[in-house]
Amino acid sequence: MRKPVWALALLLAAVALATGGCAGRGREGLGERVSVVTTAYPLEFFARQIGGDAVEVRNLVPLGVEPHEWEPSPRDMADIGAGDLFVYNGAGLDPWAERALAAVQSPNLVVVEATRGMDLISASEGQAGEATTDPHVWLDPILATQEATAVRDGLIRVAPGQQKVFEENAQRLAQRLGELDQRYREGLAQCGRRTVIASHAFLGYLASRYDFQVIAIAGISTDVEPSPAQLASIAQQARELGQRYIFVEPLVSPALAKTLAREVGAQTIVLNPVEGLTRDDVAAGKDYFSIMAENLEALRLAMECR
Ligand SMILES: [Zn+2]
Repeated sequence: MRKPVWALALLLAAVALATGGCAGRGREGLGERVSVVTTAYPLEFFARQIGGDAVEVRNLVPLGVEPHEWEPSPRDMADIGAGDLFVYNGAGLDPWAERALAAVQSPNLVVVEATRGMDLISASEGQAGEATTDPHVWLDPILATQEATAVRDGLIRVAPGQQKVFEENAQRLAQRLGELDQRYREGLAQCGRRTVIASHAFLGYLASRYDFQVIAIAGISTDVEPSPAQLASIAQQARELGQRYIFVEPLVSPALAKTLAREVGAQTIVLNPVEGLTRDDVAAGKDYFSIMAENLEALRLAMECR
């Protein structure tokens, strides 16, 4: 499935220099907007919220596409090099990002790795037993605030003249994230059960913040599928716990989760990892906060919270 991206790296470096490295971009005082390129929807959302009218944001992963297995095209690589600010998640969500940066070599590009310095949850999974980290930090409103702060600081580095606007917008965003944390804290405080079953292992940070357990069908990445023995063991646990709901997600086939649900007599409901929006989400005006609110309701239902 890999695209022949790296064979074109040298050519792209030239393209990126020609389009992005030219002098006199004049971002300040001339009304030119800061061009931001992101690798995942939550980062796009934070950049838009904080940058407001002063930025133009392009998220590389297209609508409806699941980011774990995505890789950039030559065009995407050129876009990274042509931007003012590149924000990637890190922690294993977008492992191609650092290779892409080495290839584009755009000297004026400001780069933000949004999870840098965070205490990451590590997990070792199947394939060759290599250790990986859990990248899904944005699902925890407290860590999401840290990512937003990293985005804010990147924007200020690119356009220091707009510092006050970015700080005010980031402050407003941080306040909304604080309120979201409060709603989760209260909503998940008193529940009949504290174990959920999810389609892939995206709930680590959320579960650790609000004190519940997660049984994941696939791994940290959506393409790490369980063996038949692992699936049988998950089914066994689900039966013992009397789980009534199994979470599925919008961008990944629900086939495995549905099979499991049938086997243990549970129902599937959506819990959205907020890794990307679909066209329908955009048409319905959904965003990070509305999806997080829907997720809280799904969690409260599955965990039988009062
Ligand atoms: Zn994921």
